[in-house]
Amino acid sequence: MVENNSYVMPTYGKRDLEFIKGEGCYLFSKDKEKYLDFGSGIAVNSLGHCHPELVKVLQNQSQLLWHTSNLYYNQDQEDYARMLCENSFADKIFFTNSGAEAIECGIKIIRNYFSSNKNLQRKNIITFEGAFHGRTLGALSAQKNEKYSRGFEPLLSGFIQAPFNDLDSLTKLIDHETAAILVEPIQGEGGIRPVNLDFLKSLQKICFDNKILLFLDEVQSGFGRSGKLFAHEWANIKPDLMAVAKGIGSGFPMGACLSNNEACKGMIKGSHGSTYGGNPLSIAVGKEVLKIINTDNFLSNVDKVARYFWHKLNKLKEIYEEIVEVRGAGLLLGIKTKSENIKISTALINNKLLNVPASDNVIRFSPPLIISFLEVDEAINIIDKTLKELDD
Ligand code: PLP
Repeated sequence: MVENNSYVMPTYGKRDLEFIKGEGCYLFSKDKEKYLDFGSGIAVNSLGHCHPELVKVLQNQSQLLWHTSNLYYNQDQEDYARMLCENSFADKIFFTNSGAEAIECGIKIIRNYFSSNKNLQRKNIITFEGAFHGRTLGALSAQKNEKYSRGFEPLLSGFIQAPFNDLDSLTKLIDHETAAILVEPIQGEGGIRPVNLDFLKSLQKICFDNKILLFLDEVQSGFGRSGKLFAHEWANIKPDLMAVAKGIGSGFPMGACLSNNEACKGMIKGSHGSTYGGNPLSIAVGKEVLKIINTDNFLSNVDKVARYFWHKLNKLKEIYEEIVEVRGAGLLLGIKTKSENIKISTALINNKLLNVPASDNVIRFSPPLIISFLEVDEAINIIDKTLKELDD
């Protein structure tokens, strides 16, 4: 771990491993080693590293215009917002720079909705055990996880935590003070735990029946990672609000909060803002990412290769006791390991397969969505070899 002699605050446990180049599903280290990237910078590089079309649009845009702020009209931003709405449940978009900012925006929209409706009683947002929504104070307050919030109190009031995937407990928590339900369709940091599709369907019904808002966090599960553009489409539901980031820019830092007209009707001039949100560089990249994900067969290929990866991981589970469970959906898969996940994760990285640990002793695999069957085979061979080495 790199800790001393750094001018960067030591808030991360950084490995002593430096990458200087990326191409497709591979990263190349300073000492000229080639790594298969099944981490994608924590589920970010949806189209892999340095996708030629993204490089092209970014280069073109960088020679035209970098930044003007949101003080001025921008046709490209309008066009991209329309594209996002046409490809989702949404009617309006607020552009952010990150996932946590998109979550903050959604929390503000929820509070604003009930305050502008003069229904101030509805002040609580229900969230779930194991959730991860980011590192801002709003997100820390929402996820109620001491691991992230210890030392940063006081947190914001107005959040109530429900057990995961448990409809009876959730129903009991809904009352006249409930404003919204915030949920990740697939918990990422929480241990690659998908919410049951029936549970998601019930959440939509509960929100509709109680006239409260359904807010989805698709920061990690969105933009094709599940094999559909957004993971909630598997449950055939429509939320009122959704936070997205990560895969939306395939490595360019950007995010968005999507809303239907009703939920954001109080978000009037001056109610929210961001200097950089929807900046021309991000819009150029975002448009191209969406265009590519929407090309024929892209998502069906993600689904096919993801099912193949799932099947191969389960075959390994039959061989190795070390794999306790295979979890996840689409190309957000995890293996829960018997020994400490960090140890196995490091052994895999030493064998040139990048991965990212998650909670609940899980190793997360979130490769670029462009991986081929051959690259899945390569990853499976490395996992096989690593587990064999650890057995010996
Ligand atoms: N929500 C989810 C589900 C996430 O996985 C993350 C980050 O890992 C966030 C929100 C926060 O996103 P960011 O780190 O871009 O602020």
